[in-house]
Amino acid sequence: MAALSAAELAAHTPVMQQWLRQKADHADKLLFFRMGDFYELFFDDAEQAARQLDITLTARGQSAGKPIPMAGIPYHAVDGYLAKLVKLGVSVAICEQIGDAAASKGPVERAVTRIVTPGTLTDAGLLDDKRDSLLLAATNDRQRVGLAWLNLANGDFRLLETTLDALPAHLERLRPAELLLPDALRENFPDSPAIVKRLPDWHFDMRAAQHSLAEHFGTRDLAGFGIDREDLSLAAAGALYRYAQTTQMQALGHVTALTIEREDQYLRLDAATRRNLEISETLRGEPAPTLLSLLDICATAMGSRWLSHCLHHPLTERSIATDRHAAVAELLPLAAALAKTLNGFADIERITARIALKSARPRDLSSLRDSLSRLDDIREKVGAGGTAASLRLNDLLAAIATPTACLQLLTDAVATEPATLLRDGGVIADGYSAPLDELRAIQTNCGAFLIDLEARERQRSGIANLKVEFNKVHGFYIEVTHANVEKIPDDYRRRQTLKNAERYITPELKTFEDKALSANERALALEKQLWDELLEALAIHIPPLQRIARAIAELDGLAAFATAAQRYNYSAPEFCSEAVIEIDAGRHPVVEAQVAQDNASFIANDLRLSATRRLLLVTGPNMGGKSTYMRQAALIVLLAHCGSFVPAERCRLGPIDAIYTRIGASDDLASGRSTFMVEMTEAAAILNGATAKSLVLMDEIGRGTSTFDGVALAFAIARHLIEKNTAYTLFSTHYFELTRLAHDYPVCANVHLDAIEHGHKVVFLHAVEEGPASQSYGVQVAALAGMPSSVVREARRRLALLENRDVGSQQQPDLFATAPPPPEPPHPALDALRDLNPDDLSPREALETLYNLTRLANDH
Ligand code: ADP
Repeated sequence: MAALSAAELAAHTPVMQQWLRQKADHADKLLFFRMGDFYELFFDDAEQAARQLDITLTARGQSAGKPIPMAGIPYHAVDGYLAKLVKLGVSVAICEQIGDAAASKGPVERAVTRIVTPGTLTDAGLLDDKRDSLLLAATNDRQRVGLAWLNLANGDFRLLETTLDALPAHLERLRPAELLLPDALRENFPDSPAIVKRLPDWHFDMRAAQHSLAEHFGTRDLAGFGIDREDLSLAAAGALYRYAQTTQMQALGHVTALTIEREDQYLRLDAATRRNLEISETLRGEPAPTLLSLLDICATAMGSRWLSHCLHHPLTERSIATDRHAAVAELLPLAAALAKTLNGFADIERITARIALKSARPRDLSSLRDSLSRLDDIREKVGAGGTAASLRLNDLLAAIATPTACLQLLTDAVATEPATLLRDGGVIADGYSAPLDELRAIQTNCGAFLIDLEARERQRSGIANLKVEFNKVHGFYIEVTHANVEKIPDDYRRRQTLKNAERYITPELKTFEDKALSANERALALEKQLWDELLEALAIHIPPLQRIARAIAELDGLAAFATAAQRYNYSAPEFCSEAVIEIDAGRHPVVEAQVAQDNASFIANDLRLSATRRLLLVTGPNMGGKSTYMRQAALIVLLAHCGSFVPAERCRLGPIDAIYTRIGASDDLASGRSTFMVEMTEAAAILNGATAKSLVLMDEIGRGTSTFDGVALAFAIARHLIEKNTAYTLFSTHYFELTRLAHDYPVCANVHLDAIEHGHKVVFLHAVEEGPASQSYGVQVAALAGMPSSVVREARRRLALLENRDVGSQQQPDLFATAPPPPEPPHPALDALRDLNPDDLSPREALETLYNLTRLANDH
C-alpha cells in the first residue's frame, strides 16, 4: 500500500490510522494486529492471509468510506498459523497491545514486538527439531564473494570469503532458510531455494560492519577473531547482524563469537556431489533412505543436528577425525546405556538461545533444570570418575561439568512443574520470593476461610445445603436452592438466578473476594517481574550452557556412530600418508540396509586405488551394481573423514582433498538446461577442480548424447583424468571401447560386475572382478524383456563379430579417431524400440544397450 498523506490518513478511524502507521514500517510483511483475543489482518494482508492460511475473509465496518477487508486468527492459535506462513516464506510482524486498555482514551497503544522471518526462528513450535535453520548474507566484488551466516537458534555466527565458482557448493552445504543480498547484486548469483531478501547496499558497508560487530562483542576491533580487515565476509556479516537484531528487537546475547571458516577446512564436495551422495536427502528430495536417516540413531534433537552437520562437513584435518574414531571405539560398549540416559534430554541449545532472546517459556527452564541435573549421571556413564581414555571424550566430559550456580538458581526459582504459560502463574517456585509467598498464602488460606464461612452461614441461616463457591465469571457466591430462599438473612444480595437456585453475595464475602482477587493479580504481576529478572540473571550462564549443549550434541552424535558401528558391523578406518584408497570388503551403507530388509545379503567388494592404479573402468550389465560400488567408495571416504566407523572390514586412506561425482542423468528442468548440458557442465567442473588427492566418480558419462559423441567424450574425459588430474577415479561406462584404455595406460585397470543366466532369469552377482565385462548381458537382458527372438538372434550374431576382434591388437579399427556419422539401424524392429516409454527404465536400458551394440556391429 502506497504511503498515505496526512489528509488521507485522517479520513480513517483512529484504530485504522494506528494500523496504517504500523503497516508503513512493515510493508514487506504481514501485520498481525492484536485486537482483544484476535490477531487481525486488514486490506491486502487480509486477502493474502485468507488465501494462504485458508481463513475467512470478512469486512470490518468502514474506514475512509469503504469496507475494510479483514481476516483474523485467535491469539492462542497463532503458532500454528505462523508455522504455516514461515514455510511459505512469508515474514510476519506481530503488533501487540502494550498499553492499558482500561486507562487509555482512544485506541489502546500498540507496537510491533516481534518479527518472524524464515531465517530468524527460535520458537520451538516453528523450528524443525532436527534441522538447523540458517540466515545467510552474501555480497560480492568481481570474483570475491563474502558470506556470513547465523544460526539464531544457537548463536553460531560464521564467516567465509570465497569465490563465485565455489558459491553453489556452499549454498548447497548451508541450505539457508533466508538469504540476504544487496540490491545491487543482481547477476551471476546462483539459484537457491532460500527466501531472498533484498537490502539496501549501504547495509553491506565494511566499515560500519566492523564498528557494529566490535561494539556487539565488546571488543576494540575484530582482530581477536582472526579476521582480516579487508575480508569481504565482514560486509555480509554487518548486514546480517543488523537484520537479525531488527527482527529480534533484542541484543543477541547468545552470539558470543565470530568463527572464520577456511575453504580448505572440509573435503570439497560440490553441489552435485552433495546431492548425488544422498547424504541427507534422496535425489527425489525425500529425507529417507539417506546416509543421515540410516545413522541418525541419536537420542536428542541436538545430536541429530550435530550429525547432519557432521555428515555435510567431512574434515580435512585428519587428526580430529581420528580423535573421533577413538571416541567411537570407546563408546562401543557404552552407547546403549548413554542413549538411555540421554533420552528426553532437553534441547538446551535452543533453550539457551531463547533465554538470551528473553523468549524462554516456563517449561523451557524446568526442563533445562531437569536435564542439567542429569549431567553427573551422564559423565558417570561415559567415563568412570568422569574421565575417559579418548582425548575427545575427555574434553567432552570436561565440558559437561555440572554448572552448579546455574542449576541452583533454576532449582530455587522455577516451580517443579510450572504452567505452560507465564500468564497462568504458578511458574516461580515457592520459597523463592517472600512477597510472592505471602500473596499466594492469601489464596491458599482462601480454601480454609470458605469452609469456615460456609459452616457459619449454614448455622446463621439454618439452610443445611447452602454452599459457598467460586467461578471465574461471577467470582465468589453463596448458593441457595429455591426451596430455601425464604430463609436467607437480610444482608444477602442477589448475584445471579439459576433454574434451581439463587446465588448471593454478603459484605463479608465481598471484602474477602476483593482481597483474594487482588492478591491473585498482584501475584501474577510479581511472577512476571520475577521471571524477567530470572532471565536477566541467567544471561551470565549462557556461555557455559552453550558449551554443554555442544558437548552433549557431539557426545550423542558419536554415540550414534558407535551404535551404527555395532548394529551394522562397521570398522575403524585408518589414515596413512601413502597415496592409496584401500577398502577390504566394503559395503554401501544405505543399500546394504535396504537389501537387508528384503532378507537378502549385500555382497561386499574390495577397492584398490593407488599412485600406480588410479583409474578403474567399471563395466557390467545394468543393475549389476556399478553405481552402488562407486558410491560406496565415496561414502566410506566421507564417513571416515567425519569421524565415523565405515562399512568395510578394513579401510586405509591416504590424503584426500575432495570428492567429485557425476552420476545419473538428471534433467535440470528448473534452469532449462538439457541433460547433456548438465552432464557436461558437471564433468567440466570436475576436470577443472580434481587433483591427485581427489576421488572422482564418473557414472556413464556421455549417455546424454549420440553414441559416437558419447564414446568420444567419455574417452577424452577419461584420458584427461588419467593424464592431467591424476585423480583417483572410478569410471563406469557401457561403452566397451573404453576398456582398452587399460592397454594404453598402466595406471588404468578394468573391473567388472557379472550376471549369470539362470533358467529364464538373469541373476546379478554384484561381485566386482578384475578385467572388463563380457559384452553379452545387454542381449540377455533384452531377451528377457520380451524382445522378438529374431532381433535377439541378429544381435547375438553381430555381437559375436565384435567379440571376435582382438581387443588389444593394433589392427583394431580406431572407433574414436574415425567416428563416421551413425547410419540408420537396419532392423525395422529397432525403430519401434526407440519409441519405447522412457519411464520403463530397466527394459529400456536393456534395449538401449542392444541398440548400441547392433549399431556398432553394423558399422564394423
Ligand atoms: P548399475 O549401476 O550397475 O545399474 P546399481 O548399482 O544401481 O546397478 O545396482 C542395482 C541394484 O542392485 C541396487 O539397487 C541393489 O538393490 C542391488 N545391488 C547393487 N550392488 C549390490 C551388492 N553389492 N550386493 C547386493 N545387492 C546389490
